[in-house]
Amino acid sequence: MINKDEFDGNIVYGGSNFHKKTKRTSLIMENNFPHYEYVLEENMHYKSNMKYFESLDNCILCNSDDIEDKLYKDGLFISQCRKCSFSFQNPRFKSEYLSELYGKEYSLNGAYASEAQNKLDEIKYKYAIQELNKYSDSIESVLDIGAGNLHFLNVCKKNNIKTLYGIEPGSTLKNIDNEYNIITDFSDEVPLSINNLSVISLWDTLEHIHDFKKVIKSSYKALEDDGLILIMVPNLNSLASRLIREKSPSFCIYHLNYFTEKSLEKLLIDCGFSIMQKETVISEIDNCRNYLEFQEPYMSVPKNEKAFDWLTSEYIHDNMLGSRLFFIAKKGK
Ligand SMILES: [Zn+2]
Repeated sequence: MINKDEFDGNIVYGGSNFHKKTKRTSLIMENNFPHYEYVLEENMHYKSNMKYFESLDNCILCNSDDIEDKLYKDGLFISQCRKCSFSFQNPRFKSEYLSELYGKEYSLNGAYASEAQNKLDEIKYKYAIQELNKYSDSIESVLDIGAGNLHFLNVCKKNNIKTLYGIEPGSTLKNIDNEYNIITDFSDEVPLSINNLSVISLWDTLEHIHDFKKVIKSSYKALEDDGLILIMVPNLNSLASRLIREKSPSFCIYHLNYFTEKSLEKLLIDCGFSIMQKETVISEIDNCRNYLEFQEPYMSVPKNEKAFDWLTSEYIHDNMLGSRLFFIAKKGK
């Protein structure tokens, strides 16, 4: 049995080491929105040119107009709905310009390419299959939305899952590997040609998608009866985000949507799913301890002051305070 701490970078390597090994250092140390500013300077002036942005008066999830400003970071505003707790970039980047935004180099890709990250991802994906198998007798097919470097599909293949699809907009991956069905054309909807799937997964993807309801609704249609959806997404209410706030790279222009346990649950239930499992993964424990010890949160090594002995990975996940929400839901009641 794989335990989730086994793919937790802060625990496996120590926070500071982990950030060095996964080449996150520059991203973190820049401590601002380099890409946001880049886009602003190169293509537009935020104040004088609003054509790239739209202001939202209502919550995108529940449509309530009871929204408040939650966080501000270098020109980026995040609103939160008081009713359902869903939070979102506001004003947010319009969908028709997203490809322009994503066309810029995305710093986190550097982190994904490292050997240390690949090792952790391999364990994380094996953990996912272990957990999915609790709710399914046989997984025959998987669609990974936001398939990235195809790592999850590779792990699925090793687990003898026969039919594998990946959606990765703008990707050239289809030319590399013909074993998978890679779809590069994506308008927030699973193509109708893909159906009767056992599993659909979204790894760190839903926070980027403009019309996330459309993705989840179309996923519902594409699954077989009792099919499973697996979602991993940044947790707005993580301890690290709450402590580190503006210095956390979680808050960036690429993230349009900021989910909480409550709002992700609502989205899935509204679309006809039943929640089978919900938990948080990835503690960011060293980052939190550093911060509490008055140190720079990411590149310091915590002294592990006795006063914070209560702060363990177990405590963090028992209270849904981990860095990522990890949900498995089933189609139907
Ligand atoms: Zn709402």
